[in-house]
Amino acid sequence: MAEKKNKLEIKKEIEGLREEINRHNYYYYVLDQPIVSDYEYDQLMRRLNKLEQENPEFIASHSPTQRVGAKPLEQFITARHLTPMLSLSKAFSEKELFDFDTRIKKNFSRYYFDYVVELKIDGLAIALVYENGILNRGATRGDGVIGEDVTQNLRTIGSIPLELREFKGIDTIEAYGEVYMNRESFKNLNEQRSKKLENLFANPRNAAAGSVRQLDPAVTASRQLDTFIYQATFPGNDLFSTHMDMLVFLKNAGFRVNSNIKLCATIEEAVEYCYYWQNRKKELNYDIDGMVIKVNQLTLRERLGSTSRSPRWAIAFKFPAEQMTTIVKDIIVGVGRTGALTPVAVLEPIFISGSKVQRATLHNEDEIKRKDIRIGDTVLVQKAGEIIPEIVQVIKEKRSGKEKIFQMPDRCPICGSQVVKINEEIVSRCNNLSCPAQVKEKIKHFVSRSAMDMEGLGPALINQLVDKGIIKDFADLYYLKKEDLINLERMAEKSSHNIIQAIENSKNRPLSSLIYALGIRHIGIYASQLLAEKIDSLFDLEKFSLEDLVGIEGIGPIMAESILLFFKQKENIDIIKKLQQAEVNFLAQKKAVEEGSLKGLQFVLTGTLEHFTREEARDLIEKLGGRVSSSVSKKTDFLLLGRDPGSKYQKAKDLNIKIIEEDDFKKMLKS
Ligand code: NAD
Repeated sequence: MAEKKNKLEIKKEIEGLREEINRHNYYYYVLDQPIVSDYEYDQLMRRLNKLEQENPEFIASHSPTQRVGAKPLEQFITARHLTPMLSLSKAFSEKELFDFDTRIKKNFSRYYFDYVVELKIDGLAIALVYENGILNRGATRGDGVIGEDVTQNLRTIGSIPLELREFKGIDTIEAYGEVYMNRESFKNLNEQRSKKLENLFANPRNAAAGSVRQLDPAVTASRQLDTFIYQATFPGNDLFSTHMDMLVFLKNAGFRVNSNIKLCATIEEAVEYCYYWQNRKKELNYDIDGMVIKVNQLTLRERLGSTSRSPRWAIAFKFPAEQMTTIVKDIIVGVGRTGALTPVAVLEPIFISGSKVQRATLHNEDEIKRKDIRIGDTVLVQKAGEIIPEIVQVIKEKRSGKEKIFQMPDRCPICGSQVVKINEEIVSRCNNLSCPAQVKEKIKHFVSRSAMDMEGLGPALINQLVDKGIIKDFADLYYLKKEDLINLERMAEKSSHNIIQAIENSKNRPLSSLIYALGIRHIGIYASQLLAEKIDSLFDLEKFSLEDLVGIEGIGPIMAESILLFFKQKENIDIIKKLQQAEVNFLAQKKAVEEGSLKGLQFVLTGTLEHFTREEARDLIEKLGGRVSSSVSKKTDFLLLGRDPGSKYQKAKDLNIKIIEEDDFKKMLKS
């Protein structure tokens, strides 16, 4: 049982938390270089809040729970806001949103009210003062009362009106909003900075803040910033009765107001809208870190009032963390299918966006050097494009001096062969074709769904088969017998039978799948299809010259060289012979597709489809003469959109590609 703390211990913990939070406020608000993730910061704040509420005698006006942000930087002229710019109280669960609703209804049960739900833009808060429709001053939030005057910088942002289009004769308007940087501009900025060996920004929020909170307006102007305005005050004027009316006014005045807003009659509806955006936030080209639920009726807002830190009429629903800090326990080296040595960081486990993360790819030695990642370092980790976690940056402030610099081994960690770097490649490779690590990875690729699709042959089984010397390459799979499998770990009569059957069935896979399965460097699914269309049998490929190969549309010189090299290596020819003897299909199906209804159309698939697997959709498209490509380009005709789409969706939108959903696709098939 947890021991109950005495008052002295509680006081000490509170003081410790305040000190730590103040330190983080300084790094975040003043330097724009946080040293912990927002999630960790929020946890510290929650703990402090809880302790102060349970022990009110320790509440103090200097506590970070009672204040907003941090003091302005000295190099800026200060700006006193007309109305204090507060923070928002936060909810991390559905229950906390319902509690918020209950709190309001408890005291104001006789009021009719509804909620406006908005995106919580992850940028830098600003306040813009307009006098008779002309921009007079722009400031950061600072400590909520006094901010930094950054007027000259804000003037360079195109979406901030210097003069309002319409202002109903109101002499003074203070409009509040966020300056943000979209993800593409952020990526470009970091790429440029990386080339100039400048420090990278950890995320678009820091980049936006750093671009505004510096002294040279030319720098702000070069940064491609944008704004959303979500609120305003009109001292001495009571013009609007609802938040919605105010937003309409702001829009007509010429401000950029976000259109993803919903008026909700109940908290249930508001919660639903929060989840709607939690699941779709990747579709936006800018970051949001949550949703804001606000009471719509302004008179009720006035009655509810504010605490010293946040209004009682609004609450922020925070999404699960995307970035977290953790420790690099070790850096190990993996060997891939092509022999590439990939360093991988072993991390102290953390949860990011709800799933456990223990490893992060480090790509190659240069990447480790560029980011200066050492064993023992505290690092900021994020899930890159929702798939593989990556290290964003090292928190150098947390170094103790005991961190170890990583050295790429000069021998393969698996087979001990010399490691080579070919030409200018940044990747180190193990050149031993029979290195067990390479062999295993090649087999895993061969059996994968888009290749020979052998269901049931998972990594654990492949590892056993190679380690016990039962198979030496993927062609040996076709010579396996049930007895070879039955005695292996976690194998039984039925599963062995199923696997032998899956191997047998794979003999009829189309030629394009076989070409892809061979694992020729640079030859992906799409290139395999292009090749399969131009040949009658796999043996033709062996006979093609460099000219023949580059003559195929879509096959470039690097791919062609790689194919030639593949067929020059005796080990590969031996494998192909074994496949042939096992009667694996080497022949191209001459398809009667030329006149199909999708003839000449190029599709890209993203997300999960409900009624088809990706393979099935691909087969159908191809049967009707269409083609499936793995990436979106200007040549793409249709993006077939499934559930939880990836970055291809945004790219297709950016390129104005026609986006179709599964129902449209079915109609196309029928027609
Ligand atoms: P907040 O950012 O959670 O919420 C308040 C802010 O939300 C407002 O000031 C406003 O600028 C912004 N906002 C965006 N869209 C809005 C909308 N539609 N309507 C109203 N407001 C909107 O609160 P905060 O006090 O600015 O900062 C606290 C947060 O900042 C923490 O929860 C944490 O995530 C982060 N932080 C992190 C560190 C760190 O070290 N990592 C340190 C300090 C703060």
